[in-house]
Amino acid sequence: MTEAKHIAEEQRVAPWTDSESESVPFMHRSLARLLGTRTAAPLAKMGLETAGDLLRHYPRRYAEPGTLTPLSQLQEGEHVTVVAEIVSATVRHMRSRSGAMLQAKVTDGQQMLSLTFFAKRSGVLRMHEDKLKPGRTGLFTGTVSNYRGEIQLAHPDYLIVGVDAGDEDEAVAAASRPIPMYPATAAVPTWRIERCVATVLGQMRPTDLDDPLPASVRAARRLDTLFDAYKRIHQPENDTDWHRARRRFRYEEAFVVQSALVRRKQELKDLVAVARPVRTDGNSILAAFEQRLPFELTQGQLQVGEEIAADISETHPMQRLLQGDVGSGKTVVALRAMLQVVDAGGQAALLAPTEVLAAQHARSIEGMLGDLAFGGMLGGADNATRVTLLTGSMPTAEKKKALLEAASGQAGIVIGTHALLSDNVQFADLGLVVVDEQHRFGVEQRDALRAKGNNSPHLLVMTATPIPRTVAMTVFGDLEVSVLKGLPAGRAPVQTHIVPADNAAWMQRTWARAREEIDQGRRAYVVCSRIFADDDSGDSEPTTDSGFFADSDGLFAMPEGQSDGERDLVSVTELYGQLGAMPVFSGISIGMLHGKMSSVEKEAAMAQFASGEIQLLISTTVIEVGVDVPQASAMIIMDADRFGISQLHQLRGRIGRGSLPGVCLLVAPIKEESDAVVRLTALASTTDGFELAATDLELRHEGDVLGAAQSGRGSTLRLLRVMRDADLIAMARSDAEQIIAEDPELREHATLRVTIDEYLDQDTQKFLDRS
Ligand code: ADP
Ligand code: MG
Repeated sequence: MTEAKHIAEEQRVAPWTDSESESVPFMHRSLARLLGTRTAAPLAKMGLETAGDLLRHYPRRYAEPGTLTPLSQLQEGEHVTVVAEIVSATVRHMRSRSGAMLQAKVTDGQQMLSLTFFAKRSGVLRMHEDKLKPGRTGLFTGTVSNYRGEIQLAHPDYLIVGVDAGDEDEAVAAASRPIPMYPATAAVPTWRIERCVATVLGQMRPTDLDDPLPASVRAARRLDTLFDAYKRIHQPENDTDWHRARRRFRYEEAFVVQSALVRRKQELKDLVAVARPVRTDGNSILAAFEQRLPFELTQGQLQVGEEIAADISETHPMQRLLQGDVGSGKTVVALRAMLQVVDAGGQAALLAPTEVLAAQHARSIEGMLGDLAFGGMLGGADNATRVTLLTGSMPTAEKKKALLEAASGQAGIVIGTHALLSDNVQFADLGLVVVDEQHRFGVEQRDALRAKGNNSPHLLVMTATPIPRTVAMTVFGDLEVSVLKGLPAGRAPVQTHIVPADNAAWMQRTWARAREEIDQGRRAYVVCSRIFADDDSGDSEPTTDSGFFADSDGLFAMPEGQSDGERDLVSVTELYGQLGAMPVFSGISIGMLHGKMSSVEKEAAMAQFASGEIQLLISTTVIEVGVDVPQASAMIIMDADRFGISQLHQLRGRIGRGSLPGVCLLVAPIKEESDAVVRLTALASTTDGFELAATDLELRHEGDVLGAAQSGRGSTLRLLRVMRDADLIAMARSDAEQIIAEDPELREHATLRVTIDEYLDQDTQKFLDRS
């Protein structure tokens, strides 16, 4: 029971005009029509313009209804519901203030209680007076206050027996309904939304709604009809009602998404690719490369390597996601696939999330290939190819050269950022696209790249973020998944410790530890969350052309509400000055790396750090993803509580990459039992990415793992939570497969087809908005 239902003030419902009713589907009808323009205007500001918008604006939660309190037990300040009989009700104009007041007395036969209502105009109060007739019984809900020694309820909500409810039992039942609490604004409080929803629901008929869920699925899964579900989610009689309504809507979301993915997978099956089987004529660059590999491939690398090699040998395009923890050796897996394609006369493109990473890949792949990468050059091997780096910020002349190498086919391997997606990049014969370290590479980006080949190139997406199965099913539902298990042998472990930031002795020790590593010929990273002292933006855009990859920690981003605003965070530029002046670092060469440097500067810094010219690198999270400097053995993360688990895991993955044991020091203020401390403790206790992902998910209770990931699907998935709803997603997947197998064109399921298209359109729209 709320104010909304019972105070009639300002209720301006426009008479429903029939002109719209026949032509426009109910869900598309404008709220201005249904509610009146004055009521609809503030809703429009919240993005609610149609009946569908409003009905899909689900309550965030439901407040507990009150239980009955005897009048003798009323306590000041308590929120109570009482049953009582009305003794009197009088409207009075107030002398002291402008406006009017209604005072009513109610009783349970023993005690008396006052109810008061104030209003500017007495008209509103007359409406109350009409209902609060002496002798009637009502249920009254409000907060008990004390006015001049007398307890009272000011502006209570109420239900009158015989008016709002047939009898007392019905009134009690009505009062015990869960109260929907909507996402609201100051201009539109939740009770007002509740009332608008009631008006719209009152005009809705079962035949007004087209259900995207096939009746067979609804029956098999015991799901509410759309009509019942809207009623139950907005006007539940009890908790069971809204639970089942939510379940229905969640199922619908899962079903629509899965249907879209299943259909897409079907479409992909029809695409044609050039088969690029492994070359066995003894002159293969792949075989030559494998011979000179300085290490044995791990079992995991061999196994996923076989899966990929088999896919690439097919005449329809590979669509594969390769998951492997930080440091598991994904690059060499990808390189083998690329060389298989080069052997077959095709080209491979490797797409990295940042320019730093693209440049590093180019360097290390050239390094691994040696003279096999000198194709067409003096000293190149017979079967050599060429590795070409192409990034957005390259000088024009170099870019032209790179573009030419790609277009002519001289470059067997082209490495770049998403600049490779732009129209002016042409390939002679693109056979394989590898996307590195990017779980947010959406369907549309895949399409853009696919459009570059005459046929569809094979696609390999690699990620270090452990993606739970149901997330993979939702985000990458049209891809096959390979999991690269285990790390290369001989990896020395990384020790992780938490350092209390305010403990000067510990901090001294921390810097000394970095110095010790450097003195042994190794290198150290120091990571800060800020570039400049007065900068509150962090370095979330690692490069100037970061584009889709702006938020590099999509799946497991920093939880909200962790900030303590007051604290000064350590910045790269500040710390650069401070450490340079510290005796412990005398004679050490210190460098900086952050997103505000030009890409030439960044590349230079990385190269110098790799070569040892720079021994201590102070950096932002630019280095988070994929940077590979095997001699780096120490990492000190400042304000470590500011980072999410996955981000810290990624950062830490930058050390312990060779045979050198690593040390990672997490510097943070230690507040007992904060989530941050739990996160850091988890980090210190394991280096297993899957285990950390589980901890992360536990910590973010209702957390939306998808975040705003995947081209804005966060906004589409209103109720679905990929972790919590794992079973439901799996069910929806199998239902979707069955429906689409029976009716691939969805001829019998027009509403579903339209809903899928709307869902995909929304994605496309987001994609277009960004590019
Ligand atoms: P990630 O999976 O995080 O991208 P990388 O591909 O960068 O990992 O590999 C991490 C390091 O491990 C690199 O220095 C690489 O040369 C090395 N490496 C890869 N595979 C093996 C292996 N089988 N044995 C030893 N070292 C390996
Ligand atoms: Mg990598």
